[in-house]
Amino acid sequence: MSKKTSSWVLEDAATTYGIRDWGNGYFDISAKGEVVVNLTDGKKTRPISLPDIVRGMKERGMQLPVLIRFGDLLRRRIEELNEGFANAIAEAQYRGVYRGVYPIKVNQQQEVIEDVTEFGRKYHYGLEAGSKPELIAALAYMQDPQAYIVCNGYKDEEFIDLALQAQKMGLQVILVLEMPSELDLILERSKILGVEPALGVRIRLFTEGGGHWCESGGEKSVFGLNIAQVMDAVDKLRDRNMLHCLRMLHYHQGSQIPSISAIRNAAVEAARVYVGLVQEGAKMGILDLGGGLAISYDGLKGNSASSADYGMREYCADVIEAISEITDEAGVPHPDLITESGRAVVAYYSVLVINVLDINRYEPSGINKLPARSPALVKNLFELRKLTRSRTQKVTSALVREVYNDAVYYRDKIRSEFSSGNISLRQRSMGEEFYWEVLTWVATHSKTAELSPEQEERLAGIKTDYYYGNFSLFQSLPDSWAIDQMFPVMPIHRLKEEPTRAVVLSDITCDSDGKMDKFVHSQEFHNTLPLHDIKIDDEYMLGIFLVGAYQETLGDLHNLLGDTNVVSVKIENGKLKYLRELEGDTVSEVLTYVEYEPKDLARRFRVLAEGAVSKKLITAKERREIVDSYEEGLRGYTYFES
Ligand SMILES: *Cc1c(COP(=O)(O)O)cnc(C)c1O
Repeated sequence: MSKKTSSWVLEDAATTYGIRDWGNGYFDISAKGEVVVNLTDGKKTRPISLPDIVRGMKERGMQLPVLIRFGDLLRRRIEELNEGFANAIAEAQYRGVYRGVYPIKVNQQQEVIEDVTEFGRKYHYGLEAGSKPELIAALAYMQDPQAYIVCNGYKDEEFIDLALQAQKMGLQVILVLEMPSELDLILERSKILGVEPALGVRIRLFTEGGGHWCESGGEKSVFGLNIAQVMDAVDKLRDRNMLHCLRMLHYHQGSQIPSISAIRNAAVEAARVYVGLVQEGAKMGILDLGGGLAISYDGLKGNSASSADYGMREYCADVIEAISEITDEAGVPHPDLITESGRAVVAYYSVLVINVLDINRYEPSGINKLPARSPALVKNLFELRKLTRSRTQKVTSALVREVYNDAVYYRDKIRSEFSSGNISLRQRSMGEEFYWEVLTWVATHSKTAELSPEQEERLAGIKTDYYYGNFSLFQSLPDSWAIDQMFPVMPIHRLKEEPTRAVVLSDITCDSDGKMDKFVHSQEFHNTLPLHDIKIDDEYMLGIFLVGAYQETLGDLHNLLGDTNVVSVKIENGKLKYLRELEGDTVSEVLTYVEYEPKDLARRFRVLAEGAVSKKLITAKERREIVDSYEEGLRGYTYFES
């Protein structure tokens, strides 16, 4: 990595971390070298420093890690989506309207549903419920008779009854057939309750979506009807004179579809099916394109799983165009459109801020003299190190390769001699120190040496630092662990300084999977992230961005690390406002989730302490202090507290 005397300027931080590529104009870097979020304040937009937000939070007694939510960004996403469709509709002279729904599962937090329904009100933006609990939540918040409530997922009698009764009360609740067998139950219940259902039908497309989730949409999907099953449903409805109840065609291609051509192809295929259903005599009127609208987590405009080769505006224009072409050709009126975009609406909304607790890196040993009677192999490595320190030695590619091969050979030999009992632990340790130093030297000359990819990889490991972040990947970024989802990560301060270390970011679970080692920086994929050199007392803070979609609700209690603190902020008349502070889980709360009883735990611990007093291992006064700190631990935050 480059030297201290660098010509690093602030602009380099922006390009290194790609903040303007993935930030969608919401995030940027200030002249002070801090990450800012651009929030609306009345008619203006103001940059607010993330470190300032954290400072204010700490003054209020809240510790890191913290999830910061920006309701303003959620509002702007809802506006961009709805205005995007409104513009595309106007430009194409499309004769249907857009009535999107927010899929609750993407982030079901009460605050999110409250914000979504408030910000979406002027667009009659509705909700999508995929289960009974979600419908129950939806009906408490969505009471606009012009907005849709789309019910997906498997439905029991209670779910169906609730939907039908809500419809009776004047809401537009659409029951989507996900399986052929649901139709009979819906028809039976609607007869008993005396209300005609508004039905949708979910189809399986043959158009593949690509990306991580393509199987949730295509032919192999577990959800949705195939065409023959759709026709059976149509026939059944026709037999009962109820074809007018079939109002909507629905498909869901999968989440985060990275390529616009796949989106377009799916819209074309679905529009053909829609036309067919109209021609069969179904009332129809609505086409629901499901989710899949992607965002670029990596800031690249590619079609990898973490990317998107299109933006919101293009998405809106392209689907409108595709659907109007097909319906015009068939002389069928333009349907009203629903999308169930979740990720694209809510991802920008939250940022996780963590602090770095510790670092682990290779440091040179400083051993300058070899003890007498050192084994020959250790001596050889010592000599090799001497050679690399010699100033007169001319560094050629042949030399670098030779040094490299020798070092690996001696090190391996030392290990096997150690296993056979011929080399002591201390001697082995010394040998390994020299080995690391030699390889560090090789690493600095690796460009001249033309090494094999295997050798390069080993060297990359040597140049890598481990930084331990105060977070749990499993709790806060489950998709990073489960499906290698990429998230933008960067320091939120010190951006005027050049980052000189190559870092793998580890969490504080004891799980070897609890680390992030896939990043995009400088417009390319890397296994390490450039970060600043830090001293152990420095407060060094990283932001992990675009975590508003899916992460909060999929997280688990790995190592019993619980929910983080959450704070919602906004700006009003130039002043930062902390709207809600939700304290993260305490230790006793997470223990309760796994069926421990905190009082019982404390009682058991007191028995242990009392036993130690009677054995005179501790005094009664010590017992009290020990028991107090145990109980304080129960009340505390599950993360590292300082
Ligand atoms: C998950 C899901 C969505 C949301 O998809 P995004 O890609 O987040 O927009 C929409 N509809 C259905 C049926 C889903 O299962």
